[in-house]
Amino acid sequence: MSEKYNHSHFSHQDKSTFNLELHTKSLLSDTSVVHTPASFANMLDTLEMMPYRNINLSVYEVRKSLEIAKSLDVEDLIIRTQLIHADIMGRQGKIAEGGRKIRKINKWALDHNHHYLLARSHRLLAAFYRRIGDNESALENAVIAFKYLPEDTSLPIRADHLMTLALTLDEVGAYEDSVHRFQEVLEIATATNDFQISMFVLNNMAYTQYERENIPETLELIAQMRELSVKYKVPLEAQQLDTIAVIEIQAGRPEEAEKTLQPMLHEPVGTRKLGELATLPECLLTLAKAQRLQGKLEESEKTLREAAHISEEHGLARLSVKVRLERSEWYAASNRYQEAYEEHRLFFKENETLRSTQRETRARILQIVYDAEEAKRDSEYFKEMALRDPLTGLHNRRFMDVHMNKLLERCILLEQPLTVAMIDLDFFKLINDTLSHEVGDIVLVHVAKILSLTIPSTAAVARIGGEEFVAVFPETDLKQGRVYANMLCEAIRSADWSPITGNLPVTASIGISTITDQAQSSAELLALADHHLYEAKKAGRNQVICGEDVLRNIE
Ligand code: GH3
Ligand code: MG
Ligand code: MG
Repeated sequence: MSEKYNHSHFSHQDKSTFNLELHTKSLLSDTSVVHTPASFANMLDTLEMMPYRNINLSVYEVRKSLEIAKSLDVEDLIIRTQLIHADIMGRQGKIAEGGRKIRKINKWALDHNHHYLLARSHRLLAAFYRRIGDNESALENAVIAFKYLPEDTSLPIRADHLMTLALTLDEVGAYEDSVHRFQEVLEIATATNDFQISMFVLNNMAYTQYERENIPETLELIAQMRELSVKYKVPLEAQQLDTIAVIEIQAGRPEEAEKTLQPMLHEPVGTRKLGELATLPECLLTLAKAQRLQGKLEESEKTLREAAHISEEHGLARLSVKVRLERSEWYAASNRYQEAYEEHRLFFKENETLRSTQRETRARILQIVYDAEEAKRDSEYFKEMALRDPLTGLHNRRFMDVHMNKLLERCILLEQPLTVAMIDLDFFKLINDTLSHEVGDIVLVHVAKILSLTIPSTAAVARIGGEEFVAVFPETDLKQGRVYANMLCEAIRSADWSPITGNLPVTASIGISTITDQAQSSAELLALADHHLYEAKKAGRNQVICGEDVLRNIE
């Protein structure tokens, strides 16, 4: 299993509760100060970075600032303050509410051609999209956010925009660009002696390199993190310790990883900071792995149980899923293969559920952030959703009806062939009945993946019913269509299903048909393909039938 399941990139970099109280003090404690628009604007420069540095303090500061901004009655100062408020909301988990506010402000900035607020609102939109897992939109916003940033922007804000750019570039796979941006952030942070930003960027760089499995680089970066911690006399935080530990494990040093995590475990829970509490089960999982790798199976089991307990207690679904995976590894290390297999199966199932929940959450958040009117006007997303099957993400029957008719019209006009395949899983009911409906669902998701990866790029595939799929191949005659259909059949049959269905095979029967003088409409083509599918079932399943008479003609 890849490390990705085991250690989410997302959680490491979404440092929503960065919690050092260093370099941060109340900006508004002196109530005798009378603000002018200019002095208030200056103060906002610092306040803008405060949610990042110290979320708790910033809640209070922003509330006071809103009052001052309103009393000064300068529109863009009020809006700047509100944008900081929206930033806090996002970091506190009020993602939809914060997102909605940011979008409104973004629209205001656009209408007023206000460059600084355009830059900041796009920066916060990038964070919003990262939180809901839409990396492309995040990058798009991060790029605009950087472009609009005025020349005279303060260095911490510039670093903040560069960091967002680096993180989003990394997430879409633009690693080199990302490293350059990280480096620029580090330069700014070093030049301004900014401990927090330095540590944050090193942590992100280390984690990014960890994901690339670039071991020498990661070891160098964690050494820098340790040096920085010594230099500024600030102990490393839970998240930083965890990054260091996973890197040490990757470098084959589980004993060091265990040592690294010790301070985290010996500290009494009551004295921990909020951000650290959220990271605790993550650290425990890393520790369990480090212990397992040293053969300390009993200790590892105990640690794992604690991680499971905390994750369940706090409803941390993502972590509960990771606990399953580690437990499966633990069983395997204890030579208890049957249980390892069972845990792995559960892991897989829960991971799929988690992902579909995340998809739903994302759709719901977008629905709130973009109100219905706007959604109709400028978001293809919802239209697209109505044409997709929620389980597999494939197109659905509604899409296929329209799509097929369009293709047919075109092929008939241009006198080009077109082939249709009707695909039905064999004995699918048996999988549901002997394993479970959930396992059946996982099989469907995988079949969908296999189909969409195997069809040629010009073809389309849809799930049109329970375990039935349709593929259309434009500009494809029956002979070539049969080659494609055989590829699909073989790809399903030969996939490694054992982790999902044990020894139950997964196969499909396929019936195909092509445009002829007798069959010109999609209904006629599908009926013929369905008829051939029925023959494939009768002939023993796991095969493709294209009609004997036609077959003779083409061979
Ligand atoms: P055959 O080889 O003849 O096609 O046998 P079969 O068992 O695949 O065919 P049948 O049509 O009898 O059963 C299809 C089963 O698919 C019945 C239904 O419970 C199941 N099914 C339909 N939709 C879903 C779904 O979304 N998820 C799961 N897990 N099962 C589904
Ligand atoms: Mg069926
Ligand atoms: Mg079937």
